[in-house]
Amino acid sequence: MTTVNNRDTPVVELDQVTRVYPGGVTALGGVGATVWRGEMAAIVGPSGSGKSTMLNVIGTLDRPSSGRVVIDGHDVAALSDRQLSALRANKIGFVFQHFHLSAGVSALDNVSYGLLYSGVGQRERRERAAAALERVGLGARMEHRSHQLSGGEKQRVAIARAVVGEPAVLLADEPTGALDSKSGAAVMELLHELNTTGTTILVITHDRAIAASLPRQLVMLDGLLQADSADQKVEAPC
Ligand code: ADP
Repeated sequence: MTTVNNRDTPVVELDQVTRVYPGGVTALGGVGATVWRGEMAAIVGPSGSGKSTMLNVIGTLDRPSSGRVVIDGHDVAALSDRQLSALRANKIGFVFQHFHLSAGVSALDNVSYGLLYSGVGQRERRERAAAALERVGLGARMEHRSHQLSGGEKQRVAIARAVVGEPAVLLADEPTGALDSKSGAAVMELLHELNTTGTTILVITHDRAIAASLPRQLVMLDGLLQADSADQKVEAPC
């Protein structure tokens, strides 16, 4: 049977997810959504709409106050903190607005750090890091340290680090927010390329133009999923 949009394997499942911060702020008021393997989607909304909270919950950096969060088939409520850390290390790649690279360390080492908790030996870590850097177009910059790279190159290194372990989902938090428009466009192009070759990607952004350039938009407002563009699409029959 042919499947549409690889809609056979859910990678992120949120069911009635709430997050109430101490003091009573309801940052998520009951969000439900499923992201399928192979998708590329934006979580978009204005400041304060709950995007970062969504990122933290999906990224297993924070647990929901209620509701169900399932990442690549694992219900996070059933996992200890230690198991959750392992799930995060193995299944989730993170890309941040400000890169978060280790200073004074080569691009190759920065990327190989992405495999530190994977049980892979040092030699293979370096080989896979080199391949990931080639993949993001930085084969000629492997020994460059962070301060010797442009902003766009730093973000490519961060993306290589995020995908080197072949995570189930890549979470990119405002990935172009610290870049000029040309480097930002190149980074978005790279994310599209990675998606084309199978990486599931969620981009968290306040930028509606960036969100509109992605195949699916999950629109947040006041802690709720205001719209999901996937709901409006007519699915082709299998
Ligand atoms: P966004 O990323 O879309 O700007 P956030 O998820 O950061 O939105 O915030 C959603 C709401 O939760 C906001 O009203 C914010 O002030 C509140 N909030 C976020 N983090 C905390 C926290 N640690 N403690 C209390 N309130 C918080």
